[in-house]
Amino acid sequence: MGNDAYCLSCFSLIPAGAEVCPACGARADAFSALDYREKLVHALLHPLDDVRMRAIIALGLRGEPETADALVECALRHPTDVVAGLEIVRGLARVKDIGVGRDVLAVLKERHPAHTVREAAAHALQGETDA
Ligand SMILES: [Zn+2]
Repeated sequence: MGNDAYCLSCFSLIPAGAEVCPACGARADAFSALDYREKLVHALLHPLDDVRMRAIIALGLRGEPETADALVECALRHPTDVVAGLEIVRGLARVKDIGVGRDVLAVLKERHPAHTVREAAAHALQGETDA
């Protein structure tokens, strides 16, 4: 597919086709697909908002049902980070398994402390897939 990817050393964006990360010089091909998912999920625990946010965006674009729970947990762990919460809702709306996607959005709709995030989850559940 040749998509842009995130560097797993520094979480900068690596343009499609680049062999090394322009920010830190790590080799882009050093990471297998499975590694990639695992490391992004791990980055959801990162103390820096910035790094977490990049992982949230990257996982959201991948839309893998396997990582949906980790995204929900991340949203609930940082209840005051509304920007991250909204990005997670956007990502979950793209989960390729509709049943899984609806389940996790329902959790955020009911349990996220921020009204804005609950609203966004409710909105996504109504079926609009305006990506
Ligand atoms: Zn890098």
